[in-house]
Amino acid sequence: MKELGHWINGKRVAGTSGRSADVYNPATGEVQAKVALASKAELDAAVAAAAAAQPKWGATNPQRRARVMMEFVRLLNRDMDKLAEALSSEHGKTIPDAKGDIQRGLEVIEFCIGAPHLLKGEFTDSAGPGIDMYSMRQPLGVVAGITPFNFPAMIPMWKMGPALSCGNAFILKPSERDPSVPLMLAELMQEAGLPDGILQVVNGDKEAVDAILDNETVQGVGFVGSTPIAQYIYSRGCANGKRVQCFGGAKNHMIVMPDADMDQAADALVGAGYGAAGERCMAISVAVPVGDKTADALIEKLIPRIEKLKVGPYTAGDDVDYGPVVTKAAQQNILRLVNSGVDQGATLVVDGRDFKLQGYEDGFFVGPHLFDNVTRDMDIYKTEIFGPVLSTVRAKTYEEALSYAMDHEYGNGTAIFTRDGDTARDFASRINIGMVGINVPIPVPLAYHTFGGWKKSGFGDLNQHGPDAFRFYTRTKTVTARWPSGLKEGGEFHFKQMD
Ligand code: NAD
Repeated sequence: MKELGHWINGKRVAGTSGRSADVYNPATGEVQAKVALASKAELDAAVAAAAAAQPKWGATNPQRRARVMMEFVRLLNRDMDKLAEALSSEHGKTIPDAKGDIQRGLEVIEFCIGAPHLLKGEFTDSAGPGIDMYSMRQPLGVVAGITPFNFPAMIPMWKMGPALSCGNAFILKPSERDPSVPLMLAELMQEAGLPDGILQVVNGDKEAVDAILDNETVQGVGFVGSTPIAQYIYSRGCANGKRVQCFGGAKNHMIVMPDADMDQAADALVGAGYGAAGERCMAISVAVPVGDKTADALIEKLIPRIEKLKVGPYTAGDDVDYGPVVTKAAQQNILRLVNSGVDQGATLVVDGRDFKLQGYEDGFFVGPHLFDNVTRDMDIYKTEIFGPVLSTVRAKTYEEALSYAMDHEYGNGTAIFTRDGDTARDFASRINIGMVGINVPIPVPLAYHTFGGWKKSGFGDLNQHGPDAFRFYTRTKTVTARWPSGLKEGGEFHFKQMD
């Protein structure tokens, strides 16, 4: 059985806690590896080594740090196929989707190549007589990232890229469900020139997470995962005086106005609702057609599209639309919620409960489901299902549709499909949700903008990636300087290297 340990001080090391977790191949249901779960002592040792290595990295000029990112991008492209294969085998998503996961992380690393520009401080010449004032952005020291299973390449890169470019040492605690790719990313960072000890990958569960939150050397924590854990990490990390940002779960609504192009809306809903088996924090899980005529037309267009979806293992190639969910527990939870929807009176228009795939009977596959006539009080409406289940809530008016999205406790993403600019503009302006799509179902901002939800989807005041990440991973120091007049040297005639 393959054993996955940690990445400490530039090499793979075995765990010493005696505890491990199973890593599955979700398509077959087989355990394909064991991953070590770190003890508090292992975590603390990784942090201490990172703290010893960080000052030199922090003092390395930003351009040289950026060159590590530049080389890392080249290596990611070189190893794209290998990374995607490892990712799909542990997560279950299709190979094209795994490449998208890597690509969206890679784009944040590309953005980090511009770190020298983002780290420039502010300067006031002659703030007083002979006095200049300037501010610098300095690294926090050792920071940590705790990441979810659903984007095992992208989210670790969203965290490590900006943190390292700012001159921090970074402790990554990836999901224990799919730990291979984070370890491979650490190897590539080393090959790209990152000094040993600056990036430590510590696998683990709650024990490792709590050790991060209680370690006094760790100055900042970035988390992505489910809302209850986000809330827990935010409160414990803040209580311990750390800078913390936590991104949580979602229930993303897509409003379909009567004037929308129904084919376009149905295509968008199928991709955004069922892609990656619905295991995306930006998946659309609620469709809100406005008016019964719109709802009937939309459902009619959705049914044949959903029935045509191809569900299968990633090894079946590009022909598969989505793969299995991540664990048996996730599969059972989704089916339990589907049954609750039926019991609570929703209409199950497409029923995937009997889905079976020949040769993969033990895999964690879930067939696609479509509900109609879902209401606010149902568990399938209130809960994040994180599976291939789309709920339709019928609204009579635009204002009612808006209220569904606005009243829901989550506020990660949302979308509106309409041909009317005035409605779209009103929606974008009034909605209390962090990321908004107008005729775009999954409005994930690109690397140079920032990503973050509102309400119970985000805790803390800065977003992920983009310029916000550079604010999160640095602190500002402001210097007021007055120089007495002194000797003036003669001229210099050579270009100086910034070493
Ligand atoms: P999760 O909350 O179960 O796990 C996330 C991380 O927290 C993992 O590293 C895990 O080891 C750790 N963890 C789990 N239980 C813990 C506990 N009791 N104490 C301390 N640490 C614990 O989430 P997941 O199932 O891996 O990921 C899916 C969730 O992530 C969904 O809710 C999804 O919406 C959310 N998500 C949000 C975003 C976003 O940007 N808002 C992005 C991706 C995923």
